Amino acid sequence: MENIMEILGEAKNAAILGHVRPDGDCVGSCLGLKSYLEAAAPGLKVQVYLEEFSEAFRFLKGAGEVSHDPADGNVYDLCIALDVSDRERLGAFAGYFDHAGRTVCIDHHVTNAGFARISHVRPERSATSEVLYTLMDEALIGRDTAECLYMGIVHDTGVFKHSNTTGETMEIAGKLMGKGIPFSEIIDRTFYEKTYHQNQLLGRALMESVMFMDGLCIFSAFRQKTMEFYQASPKDFDGIIDQLRVTRGVECAIFLYETAPQEYKVSMRSNRVVDVSKIAAYFGGGGHVRAAGCTMAGSVYDVLNNLSRHIEAQLKEAGAL
Ligand code: AMP
Ligand code: MN
Ligand code: MN
Repeated sequence: MENIMEILGEAKNAAILGHVRPDGDCVGSCLGLKSYLEAAAPGLKVQVYLEEFSEAFRFLKGAGEVSHDPADGNVYDLCIALDVSDRERLGAFAGYFDHAGRTVCIDHHVTNAGFARISHVRPERSATSEVLYTLMDEALIGRDTAECLYMGIVHDTGVFKHSNTTGETMEIAGKLMGKGIPFSEIIDRTFYEKTYHQNQLLGRALMESVMFMDGLCIFSAFRQKTMEFYQASPKDFDGIIDQLRVTRGVECAIFLYETAPQEYKVSMRSNRVVDVSKIAAYFGGGGHVRAAGCTMAGSVYDVLNNLSRHIEAQLKEAGAL
């Protein structure tokens, strides 16, 4: 695919879907594509469906028109899944995908095996928002679209510092800045700003973190009881894994939170050696080489034991242990 217009065909309406627990790239991609299509394909009716997302993303154009209804009875000519690596990740919105006339997935996850009829997966791109930019006509990208795509790239690159950031990422970000977007505000308000409550949770996660495997690994976990005590939701945990990862000497960071009794959402990050996407994929999840996730059953220690075995094997193979 060279241009996003190629997928539209005769479609009169389209649904745009993202992944469960939408992050900045997911929301930026969905709203960015919607805003772009308003300019590039004015006759097309577009509806975005997403789970509830962070308040901080509300300023983006179209954020107020996102539907959270997983079954409103609408059937679409076209369904576009963005930043979604497998069908499961569509969560409750999978029905729109299954019933659509045609399905397209635009993504950058190395673990994406191609679940849509047309898949455009570019693992070398930092963010789905970056992939989308390469499929758009520069002249039709307005300020609103630019804000969305810029935010998506900022989030998936950790503000242009993760190893997925390339020269091209920076060039694209530069072009988006050229559209007159308030880039400092986007970075501060959506990425760095935390509520007092979120900072307390970060503090607690760091305080209770444990280093293991000779200091090469670190983990922290929230059990449901603690989450209830703090009235914490997954949106409040953004940034915790990043702070764990930059602990001196750490190669691999793990953050867990309990999603149901004895069931944990796992986030993993690595710095140089460990391919966490392989480990996440082994346990039914996915992601990227340096950032991946999955859901696992058992106690915190069961989960850690299972993960450790894979991390250890990779470290030994690389001669790092
Ligand atoms: P997270 O740790 O949730 O921030 O996710 C890190 C990366 O892994 C993101 O690119 C996610 O899209 C991906 N990821 C996280 N959880 C899963 C999962 N259960 N299945 C597939 N990919 C995942
Ligand atoms: Mn994402
Ligand atoms: Mn992404």
